[in-house]
Amino acid sequence: MYSEDDYIQLSAIQHYVFCPRQCGLIHVHGLWSENMFTARGKIMHERVDSEEDETRGDKHIVRTLTIISSRLGLSGKADVVEFTDDNGIIKPYPVEYKSGQPKQNISDMAQLCAQSLCLEEMMNVPVRSAAIFYGKPRKRQIIEITDDLRAKTEKIILAIHRMIETREVPQAKYEKKCKFCSLENECMPAAGSKKLTNYIQGLFKTDEETP
Ligand code: SF4
Repeated sequence: MYSEDDYIQLSAIQHYVFCPRQCGLIHVHGLWSENMFTARGKIMHERVDSEEDETRGDKHIVRTLTIISSRLGLSGKADVVEFTDDNGIIKPYPVEYKSGQPKQNISDMAQLCAQSLCLEEMMNVPVRSAAIFYGKPRKRQIIEITDDLRAKTEKIILAIHRMIETREVPQAKYEKKCKFCSLENECMPAAGSKKLTNYIQGLFKTDEETP
């Protein structure tokens, strides 16, 4: 069991899967910067947050619900949780909203799985499936909360706790994904890679040479 002071944010899971260094810069060193991708996500979440809770048929829909797990040391918000009454047992079904399209990595699924684990602990009911609504295409994708996904998600959460405890943030390593990272300017990955020469030469370019 973790004490509340040691809870990590749910969003750290996505950051860690994208790049452990990015997660460290945000959650250990407290850096943050917006880019086109984070701004798009923010707009999407603001739209979801601005809508009211409602009842549709047999579903009660709650938006921006605060969720926690003391077992995993996690806290955050679920975009939407749909509650249904199954013979007197209230069952939660989390739905996460993403502005983009499904990703190649497991970041979205791990975040949704972590939400499911929080809801299971809070409500003492199993969550077997959940959904992600992607902006492109505008469609729900159902995600099964399998044992394999649970194990992978818990491993990521443990690794984040370890990084925050030790404050050991991995070194920068330039990769293709750095182009999409909102912290590229703060991280300066090219300075820590074999592209160092190009990077240093770039610093000495005169304004006339810069396109
Ligand atoms: S710029 Fe690259 S190495 Fe640095 S935090 Fe972002 S993704 Fe990670």
